[in-house]
Amino acid sequence: MDDLARFCCLNPDCPDHGKRGHGNLTVPMRYGPNKARRLLRCSTCKARFSERKGTPLFDARLPADKAASVLAHVAEGVGTRKTARLVGVHRHTVTRYVRRAGGHAERLHDDLVAFSPGDE
Ligand SMILES: [Zn+2]
Repeated sequence: MDDLARFCCLNPDCPDHGKRGHGNLTVPMRYGPNKARRLLRCSTCKARFSERKGTPLFDARLPADKAASVLAHVAEGVGTRKTARLVGVHRHTVTRYVRRAGGHAERLHDDLVAFSPGDE
């Protein structure tokens, strides 16, 4: 059984949009290298999407460990050129991943703030 508690429907028009661990998601198929990536399906709205959609790794061409390493270096304050040398990627690649992750962090922030309880 796949653990889908971290995932939620990404269709903004779905009544169950954004509800994590709601039980509305299934895994109709796997894809990618070694079939390691899951395609998720929402039983409420019938939408299908990659488990990577909405993450900095979606459509990323670097292996996940390398992409994570790039972001870890940058998060520690290592500069773009230095990160590129240490991880062994082009500095433009570092810039692209940082932009992607930055945008993701911003959306995650908005998501969390939107669901935060009020002061009362
Ligand atoms: Zn849905």
